[in-house]
Amino acid sequence: MYKAAAPYHQAMTLNHPPASPTPLRLLFDAQHRASRAQVEVSLAVRRDRLLRIQVLLNTHGQALAQAVQADFGVRSPQLTEIADLFVLRTLLSSTLKNLRQWMKPVKVRTPLYLQPARAYLQRQPLGVVGVVSPWNYPVQLALGPVITALAAGNRVMLKPSELTPQTSALLAELLGQAFAADELCVVLAGGDNPLELAAEFSSLPFDHLFFTGSTAVGRKVAEAAAANLTPTTLELGGKSPCIIDASCDMEQAAIKIAHGKLLNAGQTCIAPDYVLLPKGQEADFGEAFARAVAKLFPSIAGNPDYAAIISPRHHERLQAMLAQAEGEGARLQRINPAPANVAGASRQMAPVLVFDAPNSSQLLSEEIFGPILPVLPYDSLEQAIDYINARPRPLALYWFGSDTGSRDHVLANTVSGGVTVNDTLMHIAHENLPFGGVGESGWGSYHGEAGFLRLTQQKPVLLQSKWARGDLFYPPYGKRFDQVMGLLKRLL
Ligand code: NAD
Repeated sequence: MYKAAAPYHQAMTLNHPPASPTPLRLLFDAQHRASRAQVEVSLAVRRDRLLRIQVLLNTHGQALAQAVQADFGVRSPQLTEIADLFVLRTLLSSTLKNLRQWMKPVKVRTPLYLQPARAYLQRQPLGVVGVVSPWNYPVQLALGPVITALAAGNRVMLKPSELTPQTSALLAELLGQAFAADELCVVLAGGDNPLELAAEFSSLPFDHLFFTGSTAVGRKVAEAAAANLTPTTLELGGKSPCIIDASCDMEQAAIKIAHGKLLNAGQTCIAPDYVLLPKGQEADFGEAFARAVAKLFPSIAGNPDYAAIISPRHHERLQAMLAQAEGEGARLQRINPAPANVAGASRQMAPVLVFDAPNSSQLLSEEIFGPILPVLPYDSLEQAIDYINARPRPLALYWFGSDTGSRDHVLANTVSGGVTVNDTLMHIAHENLPFGGVGESGWGSYHGEAGFLRLTQQKPVLLQSKWARGDLFYPPYGKRFDQVMGLLKRLL
């Protein structure tokens, strides 16, 4: 077993005089100084940092999965193995494989009017990157951005979620043993007001702030960062639609939608949030979805594969959303293959399909983030597309069917962070596809080279030649200038 690191707030004097830096600021200052003292970060140093994380995952993967399980109450270590640890292992191995290539300067073609100068992009670390992570995949979403930032040669400060205290404490302890504080440090928020520390964290003048979490908190983070002109990457949430086309195999679609929706009990940023299907197919979908649930989760209560809702507050919110929709005329199809009391202390919540939810209901206006799936019938594909386009750009979009014309029409006429066709979630696992949102689902993407570049300064460098004739454009402007400009205009 591990010893929990002391919560960071214990070391912090909240009523400090304005002039004296807080402990958090002192940590930042140390990282900042180190990043300016060692601007160039070699391949060897970067590889060594990544290898330390690889060793940590190989040695303590099981302990991390146990900590996640303890934080959730019920969450299978196998889920953490595939959705947190495996994702990180693939990120690490592809990063280690490609890093030498990614770090190389990139030659850029020089236009005729500047020849014989040469030009290239020099890829450099940004400096100090702040990472704020959520609770739903607490290892992957903390260490994924950390690995990306370290690969790009940055120093990193990580603030994990206060809602997974055991996982966050274990991460702090393990990373604290493997890294110097001015290289990588973990800031733990505990006590009565963890969000005070979170707010202070996002107001530090980082060279880049990488935030994963809700759209509402993302807005606050963007505001705090703007005060320092700190660039941000915001990996946010939202309502990701699933379109069932008339050409779709309902049984296939239902099991893939059920898997994407019920993984981690719907607490996944790219989980399908609602289903759009041709009018008249609601009952078919309801039956196919119930069969799919029974196959994946023969029982809910006490099933170690079916995650609990993270906290009583989150559980109550989901129940209240259901009650509101039902009170306003929605029909609920509760799916519980082996009926038992699922509202007990474990907070395991059985899946619910919701039909005829009013547009004004919370279920149709907020990200659900739980095992509830509204089903919305459409008369025509155009109506489904209009429904999506009338709302904030989703983080993910899923389309099911075999009619490629209809598929391409939907892809051409909707904008989302990413898409998987005929499955759910899978685009996030493709190491060469950038992952991120658009509009209210976030900005900036990572994974693969896209992530490396997001946290890298691509510095444009022009090497002037001694044969250059820039002096042809110098004043005093006269006949020679006009002749040269005339020639250039003809060449463009
Ligand atoms: P959250 O926004 O409540 O919290 C995320 C993190 O922000 C936590 O570490 C929290 O302590 C911190 N925080 C809170 N207030 C802050 C402030 N003022 N300044 C700085 N940090 C602050 O999100 P959550 O409940 O932990 O996670 C669920 C949300 O995250 C969902 O909306 C989900 O869609 C989204 N999410 C997105 C992705 C993605 O990759 N796009 C991945 C996972 C989760």
